[in-house]
Amino acid sequence: MANYTDKVSIETAETSKISTVDFSNLDFGRVFTDHMFVCDYKDGKWQDPQIMPYQAMTFDPSARVFHYGQAVFEGMKAYKDKDGKIFLFRPKQNFDRINKSSERLAMPAFPENYFFEGLEALLKLDSEWIKPGVGNSLYLRPFVIATEPAISASPANMYRFMIICSPAQSYYNSAVRVLIADHYSRSANGGVGAAKAAGNYAAQFYPTSLAQEKGFQQVVWTDADTHTFLEEAGTMNVFFRVNDKLITAPTSDRILDGITRKSIIQIAEDLGITCEVRQVTVEEIKNAAKDGSLKEVFGAGTAAVISPISAFEHQGELFEISGTDAEDAYNKLFKKTLLNIQHNLSEDKHGWRHEVK
Ligand SMILES: *Cc1c(COP(=O)(O)O)cnc(C)c1O
Repeated sequence: MANYTDKVSIETAETSKISTVDFSNLDFGRVFTDHMFVCDYKDGKWQDPQIMPYQAMTFDPSARVFHYGQAVFEGMKAYKDKDGKIFLFRPKQNFDRINKSSERLAMPAFPENYFFEGLEALLKLDSEWIKPGVGNSLYLRPFVIATEPAISASPANMYRFMIICSPAQSYYNSAVRVLIADHYSRSANGGVGAAKAAGNYAAQFYPTSLAQEKGFQQVVWTDADTHTFLEEAGTMNVFFRVNDKLITAPTSDRILDGITRKSIIQIAEDLGITCEVRQVTVEEIKNAAKDGSLKEVFGAGTAAVISPISAFEHQGELFEISGTDAEDAYNKLFKKTLLNIQHNLSEDKHGWRHEVK
């Protein structure tokens, strides 16, 4: 990769919008901070990294992202402790993953120094938007889109990398009810399921809206070939607790390699909780629900951290999961452990916190 040496230029906003925001009543992803980071790819290199006031942008109607969906993104969070120190959680993982997603969509890799210099400068400028207190965070959305104005069906030669930031409280607060997919699929072998590609979300909105009409908030996807293996929830990886053992599907072409997922697997090991990473069949989870050994099901992802699942339906059979809300439930333990590490309230023995200085 070429040597990237441009300084991030900064144009600050004349006034801040922060006084207009009710931080105790945030609607996820609708409010954005005063600044954003922008960097363009042209003539074979990333250039002109800059921070500017958050604003609308114009694109040519032929920009390829609008026609062929070359778009990838990341989701990460910044936290503030009681002394005002700002932390990211395993940000190198997000950096590596956005480039892995980009590679799959035939998009150029973004340079590591621009990613971190842009992100950290942005966080310092908008630091007032990060509220201390467990559960509060600033959700960060890095993304890349193809901007080249040309509609021939081939990879673009112009792209824009951006980061926008939105203050957040925990995404889902109460337990969700899910439908297990038996017809639609979110990803296929050899497809883009493992990439954080924008189109993966577009493709799940319709089947998810059908599930919502039936009273379920989310779909848990199964393998596209046979619909017999449980995979993930589309914005979250999924864990099953059978008796005192956790089970989660292995990552593959079809499953997003979640940072929350891998952190939970590590925390389980630290706590001496057995976590099997293996294929999980719908049948075994239904049987475990029937014989009472299924204690909990929960989703894991940056936005919600942990999202307990209180019921699931499969082919018309409905199962309520009673243990999800227990005082000593694993989902509560993992959520607390993760939040404490993220908010600098507990020891960080794996070096997951990254302080923004
Ligand atoms: C982002 C995402 C997740 C969760 O990943 P984290 O790194 O834990 O936030 C899970 N599944 C899909 C499909 C995703 O896009």
